[in-house]
Amino acid sequence: MSIKAPRGTYDILPPESFNWHYMERVLTETAELYGYYEIRTPIFEHTELFTRGVGDTTDIVTKEMYSFTDKSERSLTLRPEATATCARALIEHSIYGGAMPVKWYYLGPMFRYDRPQTGRYRQFRQFGVEAFGSDSPYLDAEVIILLIDILNRLGLNNYELHLNSIGCPECRQIYRDKLVAHIRPQADKLCKDCQVRYSKNPLRVLDCKVESCHVAIAGYPYIKDYLCDSCKTHYETVKKVLKDNEVNFLHDDNLVRGLDYYTNTAFEIHIPDIGGQSAIGGGGRYNGLVKACGGPDVPGVGFALGLERILLALTKEKEVLADNSYADVFVIAVGEELEDMSTKLVSKLRKNNIKSDKDYAGRSLKAQMKFANRLGAKIAIIIGEDEINNNYFTVRNMNKGEQSQVANDNIIEHINNILANS
Ligand SMILES: [Zn+2]
Ligand SMILES: [Zn+2]
Repeated sequence: MSIKAPRGTYDILPPESFNWHYMERVLTETAELYGYYEIRTPIFEHTELFTRGVGDTTDIVTKEMYSFTDKSERSLTLRPEATATCARALIEHSIYGGAMPVKWYYLGPMFRYDRPQTGRYRQFRQFGVEAFGSDSPYLDAEVIILLIDILNRLGLNNYELHLNSIGCPECRQIYRDKLVAHIRPQADKLCKDCQVRYSKNPLRVLDCKVESCHVAIAGYPYIKDYLCDSCKTHYETVKKVLKDNEVNFLHDDNLVRGLDYYTNTAFEIHIPDIGGQSAIGGGGRYNGLVKACGGPDVPGVGFALGLERILLALTKEKEVLADNSYADVFVIAVGEELEDMSTKLVSKLRKNNIKSDKDYAGRSLKAQMKFANRLGAKIAIIIGEDEINNNYFTVRNMNKGEQSQVANDNIIEHINNILANS
C-alpha cells in the first residue's frame, strides 16, 4: 500500500510554491516597512501554554489540538496559533523591560484537528503580527492599516474590514450580565455547546456557527451600548485614524471575541465570494494575554491571516501571481561531446546571476527546445559544431522567435540585455 500525506495536509509543489514565495515576500517586506520584524518560535510548546493562552473553553483547546506525550511524559502540543507563543517568548526573554512597543511578525505552519474543507487544513499556514507594550489606540490603527496595506499590495480587492470594540473587563462585566439575562429564558433552544457556554462565557454564544442559536438569541443587547468612557474614546480614536488614513471599515455589532483577555478593538477580514466561512483573518487588542500566560501586565494588539484562504482568493482572480519560469535561459547542446561546453556555459551564466538550466536526458534538439519552452525559458542558447569552431553562440529569443549569433565574450552582456527588455 502506498503511503499518502495525512488527511488535512498537502504538498506545495513548484510552480505552486512560486505563488507562496510571492505572497510571503509581500507579507514580510510590508511588515518590515512598518517596523515589524520576524520572530521564529518552536512548532510545539507545552500544552499548558495553550490552555492558558488560548483559553480552556475554546474549540481550539477542547477539540482541535494535536497534543501528545513525549518520552519524558511531558504533554506537548503542535501550536494551533502563535499569539500565545509570542507572549511566552516575550515573558521568557524579559523583553518587556526594554523599549516599547515590541513589534514582531511570524510566518509558518499551525495545526488544528478540524474537519478539512475548501481552504481549511489540519496543517495550515498563518502570517501574523503582534505589538506588545502600548495601549495606544494609534497602535491598534497601525496594525489594521498594515493589514489593509498587505491585502492591497497582494492585489486583493473584494474584501471587507469588520470592526467592533469589546470593551474592557469592567464594562464587559456589566454587558455580560445583561446578555446572560437575555439568553437565559431561551437557553433550552441553544445547541449543546452553547447551553454550557452561555453561563460561563455568554459572548461565545454570539460566535456560535449554529444558525438556530442566532435565531434563539435574536434581539440581544449590543456591547457598544455598554462601553465605559475610556473604551468609547479608544474606539472612536481607532475609527478616526482609520478614516484619516482612508481605510474603509464596517462597524459590526456581531463581532466579538469570547475570551477574557481580549479587550477593546476587534476586527476581521471577510471575502464575501470565497465560499464556506468568509473570514480570512482577524485580530484585535489582547491586554490580558501576557498576564494570562504568567507574565506581567503588558498590553498587546495583533492579527493573524490564514494564508491558504488568501491564496484561494488571490488565485480566483489571477492563476499566476508572479514570474513562474523555472529558468530564464536554457542551454541547448546535442550529443555527449558538447556536454562539457554546455555545462561550462550554464556555470558561467549562474555565476552571473542568470537563472539557467540545461538538458540531462540526452534529448534531441527539437525535444530540448520543447523542454526549454516548458520551463518558461525566455532565451535558448544553442551550441553546435559550427558555434564551437567559430567561437560564437546562437541565441534565440523565445518570445520574439528571433535568432542571432553572439560572440562568446559578449554572451553575458547580451543575455542581460534581452532579459532586461523582456
Ligand atoms: Zn471599558
Ligand atoms: Zn450554539
